[in-house]
Formats: sequence, structure tokens, C-alpha cells
Amino acid sequence: MVILALLGMVIVTTAPVFTYGRDEQLTCSHDWSTWHITTKPSCTETGEQEKNCIYCGIIKSEIVPAEGHNWGRWIIDQKATYFKPGKQHHICAKCSEREDKVIPKKETPAGFTKAGANLFAAVTVNNTYIYDYIDTESEKLKKLKFGSRIVLRYTSDKWVQVGNDKYRGYIPKNQVVIYNKKKKHVALTYDDGPNAETTPVVLKALMKNNCRATFFVLGNSIGKETGKLLKAGTSLGCEYGNHSWDHAQLTTLSEEAIASELSKTDELVKEYTGRIAPLCRAPYGAFNDTVLAIMNRPNIFWSKDSLDWKYRDTTNLIAYIKKKVKNGDIVLMHDIHPSTVNATDKICQYLLKKNFELVTVTELAAINGTPLKNSGTYYGFSGEWE
Ligand SMILES: [Zn+2]
Ligand SMILES: [Zn+2]
Ligand SMILES: [Zn+2]
Repeated sequence: MVILALLGMVIVTTAPVFTYGRDEQLTCSHDWSTWHITTKPSCTETGEQEKNCIYCGIIKSEIVPAEGHNWGRWIIDQKATYFKPGKQHHICAKCSEREDKVIPKKETPAGFTKAGANLFAAVTVNNTYIYDYIDTESEKLKKLKFGSRIVLRYTSDKWVQVGNDKYRGYIPKNQVVIYNKKKKHVALTYDDGPNAETTPVVLKALMKNNCRATFFVLGNSIGKETGKLLKAGTSLGCEYGNHSWDHAQLTTLSEEAIASELSKTDELVKEYTGRIAPLCRAPYGAFNDTVLAIMNRPNIFWSKDSLDWKYRDTTNLIAYIKKKVKNGDIVLMHDIHPSTVNATDKICQYLLKKNFELVTVTELAAINGTPLKNSGTYYGFSGEWE
């Protein structure tokens, strides 16, 4: 503090305070102005700001960091596929700079194994899609109808990967049948069961040979014990059809009685297989438009009638199969006769050796590319009927 005496008056100043040190240099207890930007920072370049002392005018400066880009969302220029990497870009809202990114080519996800040569997938439901991936955001690449066939590439528990050199994608596994294009296909069908004594012999032979069949069952034969056989067959991939409640000749019944024959059987089939029988087979091959309308499902007959019920002879049945069965056939048999069920193992072995795959009726239709229409009647896909 300095006190100046001037003309008898005393003026006391409080700030600023100038003092002279021993080295006689002036020091200032600065009073800074506010910062002001001298060079604006940009997205990528730093800027500068300064402030000055209002007393001595000394200037202090400081770097202002770059602000960084304000990127918009990534825009897809080209989706990544199994054949080509994808391309994306985004643009800064402030400086319009563009940044490009390459998305690597798609890879088959973990848990898939390569399918063997000549394997195809045929669609076994009325509509499905090929999805571009197996996650929830996957996109539908292509709609497929019943019987569409496409090269199988990889399989997992729940999905198949299909595709050609142009595109690849995924279909839920339970909506296709996997088959070998180089092989022949046949559907063995067994009517009038289930039977607690004889049906297990068929199931055992199918399991042993890794084959599937279709069973046209009677509602009044399905009970607690035989219901287990439907469950076992379902887990082997077998198919169940409705053969009425008590083997009635449906053409002689009222509409109400026909409906009851089918619906009572449906309920039990659903209880043990998890779904209503997707197919019907009118007993005695007796049907008319009313029966078909009430079925409201495909009515499946056969192309090869083994007459096993008539001959009741294992050797004779095997000989019939050897002589008659061709690619696309539906074979009629009955799993209530010991002579028939005892032939199953040998029939499977013979047909496998002759390059057949043994599939269900629906699978056979899909492999042949023939849609099964509700209330339509089908006799197999071999072009023969006898
Ligand atoms: Zn100052
Ligand atoms: Zn920018
Ligand atoms: Zn029958």
C-alpha cells in the first residue's frame, strides 16, 4: 500500500497495488477478462482462446480441443453376404465428412455342420421363408411354397442353411425334409393301429434302420398304453393320419357322424403327438365330396396295395415289396397283423439296400414337389396304382 501526500490531501488506493521490490521490477496482481475464442476449433482441428489482464494488458492463451465429428447413423450401401463383404458409410452433420466401413463377408454361425453331397431340403409346410440369418433381425430373402427344393449346405439342431451360388439363407429345420437327390423315395403306411402287441415291432424296426413311416390310426384304439406308441413314433419322425374312430364307412354316415368320427380321433392324436393329424385316410377307400369337405385335409390313399390283410404271410409281403415298390410309391399295409410287422425290418433293409429313403407321406409329396391340398385325394407319386 502506498500513501501519497498531495496538497495536504491523503489519497489511499487499494487496487491495483504496485510495489517495487528490491530488483525494482513491477509486478501486477492480474485481473483477467473472460476468455474469448481467437481460433474456433473444428471437428478435427484444435482452436485457441485467450484472456488479458485489464490492468497490465498481459495475454494468456490456451488450446481449445477439437470438437469431434457429429456422425449420423451408419447407412448400408451394400449388405454383407456369404460371397461379398458389405459396405457402410456415415456423414458428419457438421463438416459433411464421410467415413466408409467394410463389413466382413458373412460366415456360417457356430453349431452348424456341413451337409453331405447331393442333399436337398424340400419344404413340407404351405409357406416358409429363407431368412438371411438366424437372429431375430433376420430378413426374409425368399418365400417358399410346399415342395420347393433347394440345395442343403449346413444343418444345426433348429435350422438348415440352403442356397446356391447366388444367395444363401436359413429355413427352420422342422419345415423341411432333408433328402438325397440321388436316391429313390417311398412312404410305407400302416393302417388300423395302434396295437400294443404288434405296433412296437414296426417302431423298433424303423428305429433300427433309421426309417420313418406314416400310421393311419383309429381313435378307439388309442388309449393310455397305445398312446405311448404315438409319442414314440413322433419322436422317430413318423407321421400320423386320421383313419376314423372305429373304421366306419364314412359314406354311409350323416355329416354330424362323419365329423364326430374324425374330431374324436383328432383329439387323441393331438394329445399324444402334439398336433391334429395332418392327413386322413377314409376307411375302405370309401369317400365322396361330403367326406372330403369334412376332412378338410388331404385324403391319402396308396399306389401299392400289399393285400397283407388277406395273405397274412411275411414272406409273401416281402416278395411283394421286392417286386413292386418304385420311386414315389405309397405302400398300404396294416400294423395289426403279426405277419406284417414281422416283415418290417427286412423290408427296411431291402429298400435301403436298393437306394431308397423311407419317408413320411408329407415328406414324399414335398420331395416330389406336389402340394397336398385340403380335400384332395392322393394315390402316391409314382404314376402307378395297383
Ligand atoms: Zn496484470
Ligand atoms: Zn465433422
Ligand atoms: Zn383300415
